[in-house]
Amino acid sequence: MSSFHLQIVTPDGLFYDGQAESLNLRAAQGGLTILPRHTNFVTTVGMGPAKVVLDGNARTAACIGGMLSVINGEVRLIATTFEWAEDIDRERAKSALERAEAKLADASLSKEEHRLAESAKRRAQVRLSIPQA
Ligand code: ATP
Repeated sequence: MSSFHLQIVTPDGLFYDGQAESLNLRAAQGGLTILPRHTNFVTTVGMGPAKVVLDGNARTAACIGGMLSVINGEVRLIATTFEWAEDIDRERAKSALERAEAKLADASLSKEEHRLAESAKRRAQVRLSIPQA
């Protein structure tokens, strides 16, 4: 199967560096699948599940936003956070969801606090939506 070079970078460093057969994630325009020989392309990435096919095996991850570029066949995803399904701590995500929901129930929140709590809620929901590996 043909493949392309994929790098996934997070604020913690180089998360993945190797060949991939496909990458599917939520881009600004909606669902996006990158296959070998994709045209040059840059997009923002939203929060959602991501699927990477490596050596014929699909791996799923939670991807919390970022940017994706395809330049001359080199695919680079710069993600705010990226966690393989098996690395997601579900109890932690449930606690984060509860904390965010409790915050959102507080009518005295400022607009900015509300936005931050909504965003934390969405991150936890995305993590919990990823099937356990
Ligand atoms: P929390 O309140 O639990 O920290 P958060 O959504 O605020 O959740 P982030 O700021 O998105 O956390 O991520 C901080 C770091 O912690 C990142 O490296 C991210 O990959 C990791 N992380 C956050 N939540 C989880 C989780 N449920 N399982 C595994 N890693 C997580």
